[in-house]
Amino acid sequence: MELSARLFHCARCERQVMVCSDCDRGQHYCSRECSGAARKKSLHAASHRYQSSKRGKHHHADRQRRYRTRLKKVTHQGSPQPPSHDVLPPERKEPEWQRLLSSALEEIRCHFCRRHCSHFLRSGFINRYLPTKPTPTLAWPRGP
Ligand SMILES: [Zn+2]
Ligand SMILES: [Zn+2]
Repeated sequence: MELSARLFHCARCERQVMVCSDCDRGQHYCSRECSGAARKKSLHAASHRYQSSKRGKHHHADRQRRYRTRLKKVTHQGSPQPPSHDVLPPERKEPEWQRLLSSALEEIRCHFCRRHCSHFLRSGFINRYLPTKPTPTLAWPRGP
């Protein structure tokens, strides 16, 4: 039986990573370097947040208030928006995972053990192939 694979984004470098079911430990990082660096960074951020929370609070609130008043002004002066149905939608980029899916269908290898995996990819995005619930069989009441 072929290995199934899961596709995910590395939480640090955001690269696409394929992981086979054997190597899949629910990881979010492509490598030890990434998970280590991310941990260090989050620790740093936490301490930084702690240090600057008192100092920055007042300033932040002040900025928020100014921002809100500016926003109000804009909405009051602004002319009504034209109907949007004839406006071209913003350019939609094909999702990375979809591109990878189509380009890598010939060869899908686990990022960690480099083994070939099955073409059936599990992904957080693909969940419409869930099996439908079995219909309950009707039991006729026994009786006269
Ligand atoms: Zn990474
Ligand atoms: Zn593997």
